[in-house]
Amino acid sequence: MNSNAVIAIHGGAGTILRTSMSASAEAEYHAALNAVLSAGQRVLADGGSALDAVSEAVRLLEDCALFNAGHGAVYTAAGTHELDAAIMDGRTLDAGAICCVKRVRNPILAARRVLERSDHVLFTGEGAEAFAAAQGLEFVDNSYFDTDARYRQWQLAREQQRPMLDHDAATLASTSPNNGDPMPHEPIDPNRKFGTVGAVALDRHGHLAAATSTGGVTNKQVGRVGDTPLIGAGCYADDATCAVSTTGSGEMFMRMVAAYDVAAQMAYRQISLEEAALDVVMNRLPKIDGRGGLVAVDVHGNVTLPFNTEGMYRGFARLGEAPVTAIYR
Ligand code: ASP
Repeated sequence: MNSNAVIAIHGGAGTILRTSMSASAEAEYHAALNAVLSAGQRVLADGGSALDAVSEAVRLLEDCALFNAGHGAVYTAAGTHELDAAIMDGRTLDAGAICCVKRVRNPILAARRVLERSDHVLFTGEGAEAFAAAQGLEFVDNSYFDTDARYRQWQLAREQQRPMLDHDAATLASTSPNNGDPMPHEPIDPNRKFGTVGAVALDRHGHLAAATSTGGVTNKQVGRVGDTPLIGAGCYADDATCAVSTTGSGEMFMRMVAAYDVAAQMAYRQISLEEAALDVVMNRLPKIDGRGGLVAVDVHGNVTLPFNTEGMYRGFARLGEAPVTAIYR
């Protein structure tokens, strides 16, 4: 039995400024992250697989309105929600993903079914929903994903398409009607529009897994898909190296094949998890203006949570230890 079992999660990266968040909002985020980590920890403590731990953690993050995945997902340019998710088992390299789904309550559960019960890796749109329906997964109306906070964020994002509006989070907070109650449910800078949830874990049997789920970016064009559901870009796991879940400007993470690059650098350059992850996040991604971060774990239980933005909702929990959560740099 591996005594280094651990789970790490993220709830999105971006311009998360202390000044634009109230103490109560901050406490809410820490509490949510703690609850999810504790649930993941329980799965691992009971001898559950890393795959079970990351599925459960991401499912809970999807159900939490604070984060941009599942309920609380951002709006597309058409005022709808389109969700993407992926999951990978480091033990077998099996993977499953779905993208552009509108009515599957928990996209990560659909991705998991793709991993377990399909010969394919990625399903999109109607086909993904038909697959999820055939698997008996729960369906909801697209409005189930609505939240007032995301709606406001969408309105701000639409305004910003006018060239004169180029606010940062603090400016937005101070000019928004929400002033005085500094965007209590605004987990990300609407200007930067990042947010996604993810989890990586090492289980007591020594296996790794990763899972990522998102509503994408605010005001995205209908049909746009980012890095999240793409194995190797937003999600990757291989027992030989590491498990990685990313968040940030998806187009850049796709171009850098960011999650896989961490694993590949470990394999080919024989460097540590920490070094590989830092190179991707602090060196390679910034070269193409890639903003965001990732959480990663290796088979020894090393954990790293680097990001190149002002903040990233994140945390990790080892067996028998209290979860550690953080928001800012
Ligand atoms: N990477 C996600 C996407 O591009 C968004 C995010 O992580 O904030 O869809």
